[in-house]
Amino acid sequence: MRTPNSVASPPVGQHAIVYGGSMAGLITAGLLARHFERVTLVERDRLEQGPQPRKGVPQARHSHVLLTRGMNVLCDIFPGFRENLRAAGSQTFDMAGDHAWYQSGFWRPRFQSGIQLHSQSRPLLEWTIRQRVLALRNVHLLDGLEVTGFQTSADKARVTGIQLQAPGGGDARTLEGELVVDASGRSSRTPPWLEALGFPRVEETRIHVDVAYASRLYQPPPGFVASWKMMSIAPELPRERRVGSICLIEGGRWLVTLGGWLGEQPPLDDTGYLEFARKLGQPHLYEVLRHAEPVGPIHVYNFSHNQRRHYERMSRFPEGLVVLGDAFCSFNPIYGQGMTTGAIQAEVLRDCLGQGLGGLAQRYRRQVGQLLSAPWALATSGDLRFPEVEGQRPPGFELMSRYGDRFQRLAGHDRQAYTALLRVMHMLDSPAVMASPRLALKVLTTRPDADSLTRQPEPSLCAESRAA
Ligand SMILES: Cc1cc2nc3c(=O)[nH]c(=O)nc-3n(C[C@H](O)[C@H](O)[C@H](O)COP(=O)(O)OP(=O)(O)OC[C@H]3O[C@@H](n4cnc5c(N)ncnc54)[C@H](O)[C@@H]3O)c2cc1C
Repeated sequence: MRTPNSVASPPVGQHAIVYGGSMAGLITAGLLARHFERVTLVERDRLEQGPQPRKGVPQARHSHVLLTRGMNVLCDIFPGFRENLRAAGSQTFDMAGDHAWYQSGFWRPRFQSGIQLHSQSRPLLEWTIRQRVLALRNVHLLDGLEVTGFQTSADKARVTGIQLQAPGGGDARTLEGELVVDASGRSSRTPPWLEALGFPRVEETRIHVDVAYASRLYQPPPGFVASWKMMSIAPELPRERRVGSICLIEGGRWLVTLGGWLGEQPPLDDTGYLEFARKLGQPHLYEVLRHAEPVGPIHVYNFSHNQRRHYERMSRFPEGLVVLGDAFCSFNPIYGQGMTTGAIQAEVLRDCLGQGLGGLAQRYRRQVGQLLSAPWALATSGDLRFPEVEGQRPPGFELMSRYGDRFQRLAGHDRQAYTALLRVMHMLDSPAVMASPRLALKVLTTRPDADSLTRQPEPSLCAESRAA
């Protein structure tokens, strides 16, 4: 059923076009529907009914954590979204209370942190948003069509629309709009298209990490009663390079993701996959997994590099065009920031629209350029710990890394530090809170072995696992 939505009065414009119908594109289309009389969403894939993996989003088979800040943005744009997700089968849990998290030699404390996670497969998340977007009466979907270039004004100073075609050929057509949003992901063609129009090539920073993910669905062992809904075995960087997690998702299944940096690739056969899990920093995940039933094949994703396009630095940029989501910046997925950063960019676009369409493209790209600094630093500061990873280390990097290590240890037994860490990770607070006088004093004065006094016991295994 199509639902009416309140378009700002008067609307900012008649017609906006968003291309890329994945996370960033859907969120942006939902938002623009309040500001334009009509929004057209163009997606290259043919979109099936229901939560299906699809060609254009190969990463969807792997675990996708939507950070709390991202969830808050989604709920602002789509009121009642949490309830929609729950009704669709999403699991809700507390990030400390229900999360067995092992890192740096200890299990983190378990308590109600108030930071809730909604856990589901990525196709279910996307499908739930898509249903909300396509229910809006002024949003129209054109799927199975690929954007192949921009239409511009005669002086090329403004993007006035797009050219589109069926993938692999067919009749080309054009579509005009006052605003065009590129949400086509990390392989976005905006850089060469702008260059062909006479604009400078956008500068790009890449940090190569060669991260590999291998994910598989499992049915928990019969009668398994876990004291957790998510388990993570995280590495102590840069000494360890492997990571593993189990997430309870819709249908009571476990989505298991194993991965590693710099060529640490989980094998794709049953025995090798489990063996990789056994050699994580702690064998608990393996102990649980070896009694579970695999459902379907192991899926792989190779992520070569973090990629940040500096649109904010371009000396000239056309009006009428906005780049959003992974098309602007794409991070090492291990830090779980991609979808939330896309959602925050949509918020920036909303704020920029408050001043109308004139100068929008310039305001937006500058503000997004600034906002990306924090998540980029958060993601790359972990990757740059590896001596093999090339990239510029900021001044004081070694000192900050040592502080970060001590903070991680403190968070292993101190609830206040752990909560602060979770809030920063979920993009609710700036990383600066981790250096507040109170926490800094604790970090600098707590004895390195203090955690052994308050060590969290390891999560229990199920009766069947113990007996085996
Ligand atoms: C293995 C892995 C795990 C991840 N885990 C997390 C996580 O835990 N949390 C998190 O927040 N993020 C995670 N991410 C990142 C997250 O997947 C991305 O940040 C997010 O999908 C970006 O959304 P997007 O809409 O910008 O781009 P995409 O999801 O890449 O979608 C781009 C869309 O554009 C379409 N398209 C492309 N070109 C065209 C064209 N020319 N015309 C029309 N349509 C086009 C594609 O078909 C696709 O639908 C992970 C990424 C990977 C690789």
